[in-house]
Amino acid sequence: MAIRTILTKGEPALNKVCHPVTKFDDKLADLLDDLKETLAQANGLGLAAPQVGILRRAVIVVNEEGEMLELVNPEIIAREGEQDGLEGCLSVPGMWGYVKRPAWVRVKAQDRKGNWFEVEGSDITARCFCHELSHLDGHLYTELCDKLYTNEDLDRMMEEQEDQE
Ligand SMILES: [Zn+2]
Repeated sequence: MAIRTILTKGEPALNKVCHPVTKFDDKLADLLDDLKETLAQANGLGLAAPQVGILRRAVIVVNEEGEMLELVNPEIIAREGEQDGLEGCLSVPGMWGYVKRPAWVRVKAQDRKGNWFEVEGSDITARCFCHELSHLDGHLYTELCDKLYTNEDLDRMMEEQEDQE
């Protein structure tokens, strides 16, 4: 296993449509292991293969139980409701923005052996599924935000909110 470099906004790999995974071999297993290790070190909630420069449809999502889910060739097959909340991305470090996402989604994906399964998530997990899957089509959440905030902006907003209370 190895920690891979996370690409940041502006790198062409982040704007490419990724190819389906067709070989469920050791190379895929290594990629998934590396994505997990890289994600753990970065302390994030999700990581997609293109974020480490690999244009394949594979992502890791951390669910509410703290488990790292491996999703190969994932697709959202059902969605319900809406939520609006702050989102960040390891490829856009130090920035945050409000993004509308479904409140709940069901995802169909393959595991590292090629077996299909379904998984669902609400709240932050639904947000994370949507965010990671859009990386596979070359999209960043920043395309969906009117405005981006820095950590300092957020601190200031929190203080102002506390002052009002
Ligand atoms: Zn991201």
